[in-house]
Amino acid sequence: MDMVAEVIVDIAHSDVDKIFDYVCDYEIAVGTRVAVPFGNGRGTTTGFVIRLKSSTDIPPEKLKKIYRPLDGFPAINEECLALAKKIATRYRVPLALSLRLFLPAEMRTGKVSEAYKTYARLTGDPAEVPPKAKAQRALAEFLLEHGEQEASELRKKFGAAVNALEKKGLLVLEKKRKMRDPYGGKRGEQAEHILTPAQREAVRRIQSTEKTVTLLHGVTGSGKTEIYLTLIAEQLKKNKTALFLVPEISLTPQMLFQLRSRFQSEVAILHSGLSAGERFDEWERLRSGEAKIAVGARSAVFAPVENIGLIVIDEEHDGSYSSESSPRYNTFDIALLRAKYNGCKLVLGSATPAVETYRRAKEGEFELITLPDRINARPLPTVRLVDMRREVRRGNPSPFSALLKERLESCLSSGNQAILFLNRRGYSQTVMCRDCGNVIKCEHCDVALTYHSEEDCLKCHYCGARYKMPEGCPDCGGKHIRYVGTGTQRVVGELKKLYPKARILRMDMDTTSGKEGHYKILKEFSDRKADILVGTQMVAKGHDFPAVTLVGILDADMGLYFPDYRSGERTFQLVTQVAGRSGRAEEKGEVVLQTYDPENAILRYAAAYDYAGFYEHEISMRAATSFPPFAKIVRVMVTGEDEQETLACLKEVYGSLSEIYGKNADKFLFFNRMHAPVKRIQNKYRYQVLMRLLQGAPLAEIYDAVAAVKHKNVLCYVEENPGNLS
Ligand code: ADP
Ligand code: ZN
Repeated sequence: MDMVAEVIVDIAHSDVDKIFDYVCDYEIAVGTRVAVPFGNGRGTTTGFVIRLKSSTDIPPEKLKKIYRPLDGFPAINEECLALAKKIATRYRVPLALSLRLFLPAEMRTGKVSEAYKTYARLTGDPAEVPPKAKAQRALAEFLLEHGEQEASELRKKFGAAVNALEKKGLLVLEKKRKMRDPYGGKRGEQAEHILTPAQREAVRRIQSTEKTVTLLHGVTGSGKTEIYLTLIAEQLKKNKTALFLVPEISLTPQMLFQLRSRFQSEVAILHSGLSAGERFDEWERLRSGEAKIAVGARSAVFAPVENIGLIVIDEEHDGSYSSESSPRYNTFDIALLRAKYNGCKLVLGSATPAVETYRRAKEGEFELITLPDRINARPLPTVRLVDMRREVRRGNPSPFSALLKERLESCLSSGNQAILFLNRRGYSQTVMCRDCGNVIKCEHCDVALTYHSEEDCLKCHYCGARYKMPEGCPDCGGKHIRYVGTGTQRVVGELKKLYPKARILRMDMDTTSGKEGHYKILKEFSDRKADILVGTQMVAKGHDFPAVTLVGILDADMGLYFPDYRSGERTFQLVTQVAGRSGRAEEKGEVVLQTYDPENAILRYAAAYDYAGFYEHEISMRAATSFPPFAKIVRVMVTGEDEQETLACLKEVYGSLSEIYGKNADKFLFFNRMHAPVKRIQNKYRYQVLMRLLQGAPLAEIYDAVAAVKHKNVLCYVEENPGNLS
């Protein structure tokens, strides 16, 4: 009898799954993409075979036939299909949507195709070519020596000789699939190192621990990467595959080059900055098993590999590991599911682990390995704090303190490079007194308030409280109260005045557009075509510039007052990361950290590289104020273009959430509905129900309540501990 296939139809914008039975009179594997008839007319759509069975309740005359498979292989393997189902259930999204996570978008839209190239292969003996035909003879000898070559390349060198040889029957031209190679196949030259005893011990412990997850907490430059590479090599020997996740591969292609130099074409890269064709080919190389290591940003956790032997999440604390579009998954959660399915280890690496991760490791859930020293006992750069209030009082209005200027001059005159870092996050929205450094905070939440110009007021993003913009500083009465902000552009301008001869590069959102924008600037700097690099967050990531001996952090505290309970943690991480860019080679590095709040505990811990001290400080504060990991912040967002309909939707969801709240009030620390802090984005009104939940709160019921609300033009979704509450 024919087989019956359950097919999930891939329809965009549908908020429910459409699963239909189709009949199929040939063998087809679960996970295969198919074209199927759909709708009343003769419409065609695509779908996935998600189950096979021998019978169906659909009467035979109504049962339609699958038209054809779209690929010669199942696009989704068994593990990924199971995972997609789990994601769909966990985040209440249609399975069709979660399946999309596993495929390159271009495959679905059908806008990309395989690339073919013509290759020339020698079929005869060069001696058969008459000596007079010099070019043809040379071509034949070239092919004999180098083997098959791309015809277009040969034509550049040997011109018409290519066709002439083909006519003589000494050469054949063949079309073959050519895989597009991101970054031109570039790779590094780094040699394999002999592991230090500390690295060897780390490798041994990761391999032998009974725990699935290991947190590798190692200072910058402690050789974590070498540990990952060793672990991956072990797995490849066992014929297994690996996932290697990094926060922003487009910012740090060095990591890719390093992997390629070690593992050659067994590495495939997945990220949004690639061209559609490249992305498709890299995905296909992983799926077919030709490539065994998937490197990439968070979406690479969905790589189509089988038989995984290791998963690495490097810089695990990075905010980019949380997805901000539906489904709002956390990369760690997905990685853990895959590690459990494959029975493999999951390694989290960071110099500054997220407070929540470190707590789980300390409590024994994860194996904890600490690498307190840099390779070759190279010293960490010295960090010096400068009190910027004093600079203002002394009449220095420039963004550079006297100390920074002095160190900068010394750095430049000895022929080294410097990085100046501006913490742009939260700029111009936070209100600060320039006389005393006081930042205006919420009376109820201890987070910085945000200025909203459209209403000329200050708002707390955690409780919705509103305040009038004060005339003077509530603490010292000073009148220099304002939302400060020095842009990179101004910094570059001032630098040029001070050091007319210095070559300066700027790296921020404005200067890094284009496919390889970041890479170009970083390359220019590492090729020493500039002396000073001025930039925002982007310069903090794991770059390795051996000639950099000075890092200046112009406004270390700006991030501290970002209206977010994680602002202390983020500042600690950022300062540590930027400081780590200094003194990576022979010469010792130094860091000048400018702040309006030199007594700040977070900055003091960062300057002393005291992660443990920072952690104790932070975790006791989170416990005292009941912020994560001691509670969960959950926001239900309701957004739509029609304000009345959006409000109606809000009312409905608030009603059902209120019922849940009523029954579980002891598990709620906070529950309220309000305007979102930013009332409208892209013409969409934004309302929210904000909650702070204790352990044991009925999160699943909240998801169900939200999923039950159906308004055609209003989007309603749940966010857990969102990275951004605007
Ligand atoms: P991390 O990832 O912890 O910041 P890296 O892996 O980048 O540290 O290592 C820092 C530097 O030390 C790199 O230049 C790397 O090549 C070098 N290195 C790593 N392991 C060794 C080793 N066993 N012997 C010598 N040099 C090493
Ligand atoms: Zn508040």
